[in-house]
Amino acid sequence: MVVGGGVAGLTAAYRLAGHRPGGEAAPGAAGARAGVDVLVLEASGRAGGKLLSVHVAGGVTVEGGADSFLARKPWAVDLCRELGLGDELVAPGASGAHIWARGRPVAIPAGGAFGVPGEVATLLRWPGLSVAGRLRALLDLRLPPRLTESDRDESVGALLTRRLGREAAATMVGPLVSGIAAGDLDLLSVRASFPELAEAVRRHGSLIRATRAAARRAASPTAASPTAASPTAASPTAASPTAPPPAIFLAPSGGTARLTEALADAIGPERILLDARATAVRRAGDGYAVEREDGEPVLADAVVLAVPAYAAVALVAELVPRAAAPLTAIPYVSTASVALVFPAGTGRHLPPGTGFLFPRGSAPAGVPAAVTAVTWFSRKWPRPAFGDRAVGRSSGGAATSGRWSSATVGSSTPSSATWMPPGGSGRGRRRRPCSAGSGRCPSTTSATWSGSPPPRAHWRPGRPACS
Ligand SMILES: Cc1cc2nc3c(=O)[nH]c(=O)nc-3n(C[C@H](O)[C@H](O)[C@H](O)COP(=O)(O)OP(=O)(O)OC[C@H]3O[C@@H](n4cnc5c(N)ncnc54)[C@H](O)[C@@H]3O)c2cc1C
Repeated sequence: MVVGGGVAGLTAAYRLAGHRPGGEAAPGAAGARAGVDVLVLEASGRAGGKLLSVHVAGGVTVEGGADSFLARKPWAVDLCRELGLGDELVAPGASGAHIWARGRPVAIPAGGAFGVPGEVATLLRWPGLSVAGRLRALLDLRLPPRLTESDRDESVGALLTRRLGREAAATMVGPLVSGIAAGDLDLLSVRASFPELAEAVRRHGSLIRATRAAARRAASPTAASPTAASPTAASPTAASPTAPPPAIFLAPSGGTARLTEALADAIGPERILLDARATAVRRAGDGYAVEREDGEPVLADAVVLAVPAYAAVALVAELVPRAAAPLTAIPYVSTASVALVFPAGTGRHLPPGTGFLFPRGSAPAGVPAAVTAVTWFSRKWPRPAFGDRAVGRSSGGAATSGRWSSATVGSSTPSSATWMPPGGSGRGRRRRPCSAGSGRCPSTTSATWSGSPPPRAHWRPGRPACS
């Protein structure tokens, strides 16, 4: 029995059912289904968890959660291929994110990784930092590595600040590394989240040198696979000077939920109970009884919990009381995504790149502090259904940005969001709320954004999109 029908629970069930990596069945199995007789209990009305596509207005579908898989960590991509989705995998249609620094979007330093440039000249010219901040970051080339970089864990913020200085840590690198987990740089463990940063310093004595070394390796025709010894381990590795670099991110063209749909199909819908919230796991003879909110308890020989830690607390409270405290201590952050669909003809007016990130506390006036990033979704993941409309996705919620107000990720209710039209001058020009589905207004979904407007897009498509 698997409790939780997100990608983790579905994958566990798929493997338990006898499907081996690469598509083989378990030894002695008469077919791929001849593994454990497995049942998935899922609390909500759909399987897939945080991998979900949200239908917005006008046939537009946008990811509510994950939009892609990191190719460097190949398991999700391999699983897609194993499930027959290999031909659907696409790389982003645009590259190059921006960081909101010193009051404007600034392209992330070229040729770097996680925002760390590999060349001194690139760093010295990077306009996102003050001159003092750039000079301090250069000290990374001179500072000796410390024991903590190899032997003890520390926070990502501590490592970056020591190597590059507080300004570069917060502005140039921080938004990229903390954004992935919506975490607080000063609380994220290097060992758990970015061990390659410590390894880069240990091997190369400097983050900048490690980035440069990895870029050279990637550019070399005889380049070997990327290693964990550099912060650019996610960087492409060229097989030949003319071959296009391998993609860093990949996603099924129909959205990441294609993976969970394919998993659910392979497991068999009859083995996935929806609207079946587990409330407790108890001992029952040699096995377990999983209590349900609505319905009879289900007996199982073994139980896999694939639910968030806070949900697991109640499930194991009676069975393993000692687990409650450590599970409760695992922090979670409430996040939200807001999809913005602009009128026909706006797509070409989007700025280049994939979008921008807000370093902590840098959001301009009128943008809620909870907003952490804006993705030019129609540039990054172009889809025929978008036509020539600009589609954006704004992300909110981080450990450092306070509570996301009334976030209801996954809601299809038209939001109470207000939106600043292109060219709007700031406070006091907020327009009336736009509703989802309106032809002229950007449509919002996935979150209730109360009070303040989503980030003002700093582009000028020529005419207001919402009046
Ligand atoms: C906004 C956002 C963007 C992201 N972007 C990316 C990205 O680009 N790339 C990437 O790789 N990752 C990304 N992630 C992370 C990724 O989506 C998650 O790590 C992953 O989907 C988690 O899967 P899971 O199965 O562990 O948990 P979940 O998806 O949370 O699934 C848990 C399931 O358990 C169910 N459940 C809970 N309690 C019970 C109960 N008592 N009984 C029965 N069922 C229960 C829930 O309904 C849910 O379906 C993103 C996450 C978010 C939120």
